[in-house]
Amino acid sequence: MYNLVIFGPPGAGKGTQSEKIIAEFNLAHISTGDMFRMHISNDTEIGKKVKQILADGLLVPDSITIEMLEEEVTKNPDVKGFIFDGFPRTVNQAEALDTFLEGKGEKINLVLQLDVNQDVIKERIAERQKISGRADDDAEKLVKRIDEYFSKTIHVLPFYENQGKVIKVNGIGKIEDIYSDISSAIKESM
Ligand code: AMP
Repeated sequence: MYNLVIFGPPGAGKGTQSEKIIAEFNLAHISTGDMFRMHISNDTEIGKKVKQILADGLLVPDSITIEMLEEEVTKNPDVKGFIFDGFPRTVNQAEALDTFLEGKGEKINLVLQLDVNQDVIKERIAERQKISGRADDDAEKLVKRIDEYFSKTIHVLPFYENQGKVIKVNGIGKIEDIYSDISSAIKESM
Protein backbone atom coordinates (compact mmCIF):
# COMPACT_ATOMS: atom_id res chain seq x y z
CA MET A 1 0.00 0.00 0.00
CA TYR A 2 1.00 3.60 -0.51
CA ASN A 3 -0.47 5.98 2.07
CA LEU A 4 -0.35 9.72 1.87
CA VAL A 5 -1.36 12.51 4.21
CA ILE A 6 -2.24 15.83 2.60
CA PHE A 7 -1.65 18.52 5.18
CA GLY A 8 -2.38 22.22 5.43
CA PRO A 9 -4.69 24.82 6.96
CA PRO A 10 -8.32 25.29 5.89
CA GLY A 11 -8.33 26.62 2.34
CA ALA A 12 -4.85 25.29 1.50
CA GLY A 13 -6.29 23.35 -1.45
CA LYS A 14 -6.27 19.88 0.12
CA GLY A 15 -9.58 18.84 -1.45
CA THR A 16 -8.77 20.22 -4.90
CA GLN A 17 -5.33 18.63 -5.03
CA SER A 18 -6.61 15.35 -3.54
CA GLU A 19 -8.95 14.93 -6.52
CA LYS A 20 -6.01 15.20 -8.90
CA ILE A 21 -3.86 12.80 -6.87
CA ILE A 22 -6.67 10.24 -6.84
CA ALA A 23 -7.08 10.52 -10.61
CA GLU A 24 -3.38 9.94 -11.27
CA PHE A 25 -2.41 7.49 -8.53
CA ASN A 26 -5.66 5.66 -7.95
CA LEU A 27 -5.68 6.05 -4.17
CA ALA A 28 -8.82 5.92 -2.01
CA HIS A 29 -9.75 9.34 -0.65
CA ILE A 30 -10.67 9.68 3.01
CA SER A 31 -11.75 13.17 4.00
CA THR A 32 -12.93 13.24 7.62
CA GLY A 33 -14.59 16.63 6.99
CA ASP A 34 -16.64 15.15 4.10
CA MET A 35 -17.50 12.14 6.27
CA PHE A 36 -18.74 14.35 9.10
CA ARG A 37 -20.81 16.45 6.66
CA MET A 38 -22.33 13.23 5.29
CA HIS A 39 -23.21 12.06 8.82
CA ILE A 40 -24.82 15.43 9.53
CA SER A 41 -26.92 15.42 6.37
CA ASN A 42 -28.02 11.82 7.07
CA ASP A 43 -28.75 12.73 10.70
CA THR A 44 -26.85 9.68 12.05
CA GLU A 45 -25.75 9.24 15.68
CA ILE A 46 -22.32 10.65 14.79
CA GLY A 47 -24.01 13.45 12.85
CA LYS A 48 -26.06 14.46 15.88
CA LYS A 49 -22.95 14.52 18.08
CA VAL A 50 -20.79 16.62 15.74
CA LYS A 51 -23.25 19.02 14.12
CA GLN A 52 -22.73 21.87 16.54
CA ILE A 53 -18.97 21.28 16.75
CA LEU A 54 -18.59 21.69 12.99
CA ALA A 55 -20.90 24.70 12.99
CA ASP A 56 -18.65 26.30 15.62
CA GLY A 57 -15.47 25.60 13.66
CA LEU A 58 -14.00 23.47 16.45
CA LEU A 59 -12.31 20.08 16.26
CA VAL A 60 -14.39 16.96 16.85
CA PRO A 61 -13.07 14.92 19.82
CA ASP A 62 -10.31 12.48 18.88
CA SER A 63 -12.23 9.43 20.11
CA ILE A 64 -15.09 9.97 17.61
CA THR A 65 -12.78 10.95 14.75
CA ILE A 66 -10.30 8.11 15.16
CA GLU A 67 -13.00 5.44 15.43
CA MET A 68 -14.77 6.72 12.31
CA LEU A 69 -11.50 6.88 10.35
CA GLU A 70 -10.39 3.39 11.34
CA GLU A 71 -13.76 1.95 10.38
CA GLU A 72 -13.49 3.54 6.94
CA VAL A 73 -9.99 2.16 6.35
CA THR A 74 -11.08 -1.31 7.49
CA LYS A 75 -14.03 -1.21 5.07
CA ASN A 76 -11.65 -0.83 2.11
CA PRO A 77 -9.06 -3.62 2.39
CA ASP A 78 -8.37 -3.99 -1.34
CA VAL A 79 -7.33 -0.47 -2.32
CA LYS A 80 -3.82 0.49 -3.53
CA GLY A 81 -3.54 2.97 -0.69
CA PHE A 82 -5.21 5.95 0.94
CA ILE A 83 -5.00 9.68 0.79
CA PHE A 84 -5.88 11.12 4.19
CA ASP A 85 -7.32 14.60 3.79
CA GLY A 86 -8.07 16.59 6.96
CA PHE A 87 -6.73 13.79 9.16
CA PRO A 88 -4.72 13.63 11.38
CA ARG A 89 -5.45 17.03 12.93
CA THR A 90 -3.94 16.35 16.37
CA VAL A 91 -0.77 14.55 17.49
CA ASN A 92 -3.00 12.05 19.26
CA GLN A 93 -4.70 11.25 15.95
CA ALA A 94 -1.33 10.92 14.20
CA GLU A 95 -0.11 8.48 16.84
CA ALA A 96 -3.33 6.49 16.65
CA LEU A 97 -3.04 6.30 12.85
CA ASP A 98 0.56 5.04 13.06
CA THR A 99 -0.39 2.35 15.56
CA PHE A 100 -3.44 1.34 13.54
CA LEU A 101 -1.50 1.09 10.26
CA GLU A 102 1.36 -0.77 11.95
CA GLY A 103 -1.16 -3.36 13.08
CA LYS A 104 -1.94 -3.94 9.41
CA GLY A 105 1.74 -4.02 8.39
CA GLU A 106 1.29 -0.63 6.73
CA LYS A 107 2.57 2.91 7.28
CA ILE A 108 2.31 6.52 6.12
CA ASN A 109 4.68 6.90 3.18
CA LEU A 110 4.53 10.65 2.66
CA VAL A 111 3.12 13.81 4.22
CA LEU A 112 2.55 16.57 1.69
CA GLN A 113 2.47 19.95 3.34
CA LEU A 114 0.69 22.59 1.27
CA ASP A 115 2.34 25.86 2.14
CA VAL A 116 0.03 28.91 2.01
CA ASN A 117 -0.23 32.14 3.96
CA GLN A 118 -3.21 33.40 5.94
CA ASP A 119 -4.22 36.10 3.44
CA VAL A 120 -4.56 33.51 0.70
CA ILE A 121 -6.57 31.20 2.96
CA LYS A 122 -9.05 33.93 3.80
CA GLU A 123 -9.50 34.97 0.15
CA ARG A 124 -9.99 31.40 -1.03
CA ILE A 125 -12.49 30.53 1.67
CA ALA A 126 -14.52 33.66 1.00
CA GLU A 127 -14.70 32.52 -2.65
CA ARG A 128 -15.54 28.95 -1.68
CA GLN A 129 -18.38 30.04 0.57
CA LYS A 130 -20.12 31.74 -2.35
CA ILE A 131 -20.32 28.32 -4.02
CA SER A 132 -20.48 25.79 -1.16
CA GLY A 133 -22.56 27.80 1.28
CA ARG A 134 -20.67 25.97 4.06
CA ALA A 135 -21.69 27.60 7.33
CA ASP A 136 -18.22 27.08 8.79
CA ASP A 137 -16.69 29.07 5.91
CA ASP A 138 -18.09 32.36 7.21
CA ALA A 139 -15.50 34.84 8.46
CA GLU A 140 -16.13 34.38 12.19
CA LYS A 141 -16.07 30.54 12.05
CA LEU A 142 -13.04 30.64 9.83
CA VAL A 143 -11.12 32.48 12.55
CA LYS A 144 -11.99 29.59 14.93
CA ARG A 145 -10.87 26.98 12.41
CA ILE A 146 -7.59 28.78 11.81
CA ASP A 147 -7.10 29.02 15.61
CA GLU A 148 -7.66 25.27 15.91
CA TYR A 149 -5.15 24.72 13.14
CA PHE A 150 -2.42 26.83 14.76
CA SER A 151 -3.06 25.62 18.32
CA LYS A 152 -3.51 21.87 17.69
CA THR A 153 -2.99 20.73 14.12
CA ILE A 154 0.34 22.44 13.43
CA HIS A 155 2.01 20.11 15.97
CA VAL A 156 1.33 17.18 13.68
CA LEU A 157 4.07 18.47 11.37
CA PRO A 158 7.06 17.97 13.72
CA PHE A 159 5.64 14.54 14.56
CA TYR A 160 6.05 13.50 10.91
CA GLU A 161 9.19 15.60 10.37
CA ASN A 162 10.88 13.49 13.04
CA GLN A 163 10.06 10.49 10.89
CA GLY A 164 11.54 12.23 7.81
CA LYS A 165 8.24 12.03 5.95
CA VAL A 166 7.30 15.66 5.23
CA ILE A 167 7.67 17.32 1.85
CA LYS A 168 6.65 20.95 1.61
CA VAL A 169 5.02 22.13 -1.60
CA ASN A 170 4.23 25.73 -2.46
CA GLY A 171 0.42 25.94 -2.34
CA ILE A 172 0.09 29.35 -3.98
CA GLY A 173 -0.31 29.79 -7.72
CA LYS A 174 -2.07 27.93 -10.50
CA ILE A 175 -3.74 24.66 -9.51
CA GLU A 176 -1.92 22.83 -12.32
CA ASP A 177 1.52 24.15 -11.31
CA ILE A 178 0.97 23.20 -7.68
CA TYR A 179 -0.17 19.77 -8.77
CA SER A 180 2.88 19.27 -10.93
CA ASP A 181 5.13 19.67 -7.85
CA ILE A 182 2.88 17.33 -5.88
CA SER A 183 2.93 14.67 -8.56
CA SER A 184 6.74 14.75 -8.75
CA ALA A 185 7.06 14.52 -4.96
CA ILE A 186 4.78 11.48 -4.86
CA LYS A 187 6.65 9.73 -7.67
CA GLU A 188 9.97 10.33 -5.95
CA SER A 189 8.66 8.84 -2.71
CA MET A 190 7.26 5.68 -4.33
P1 AMP B 1 -12.66 20.06 6.69
O1 AMP B 1 -13.66 19.79 5.64
O2 AMP B 1 -11.48 19.12 6.62
O3 AMP B 1 -12.24 21.50 6.74
O4 AMP B 1 -13.35 19.73 8.09
C1 AMP B 1 -14.53 20.41 8.51
C2 AMP B 1 -14.72 20.26 10.00
O5 AMP B 1 -14.87 18.87 10.34
C3 AMP B 1 -13.58 20.75 10.87
O6 AMP B 1 -13.64 22.13 11.09
C4 AMP B 1 -13.83 19.94 12.15
O7 AMP B 1 -14.93 20.46 12.87
C5 AMP B 1 -14.26 18.60 11.59
N1 AMP B 1 -13.10 17.70 11.35
C6 AMP B 1 -12.69 17.22 10.15
N2 AMP B 1 -11.62 16.42 10.28
C7 AMP B 1 -11.34 16.40 11.61
C8 AMP B 1 -10.32 15.77 12.40
N3 AMP B 1 -9.38 15.01 11.83
N4 AMP B 1 -10.34 15.97 13.74
C9 AMP B 1 -11.29 16.73 14.31
N5 AMP B 1 -12.26 17.38 13.64
C10 AMP B 1 -12.30 17.21 12.29
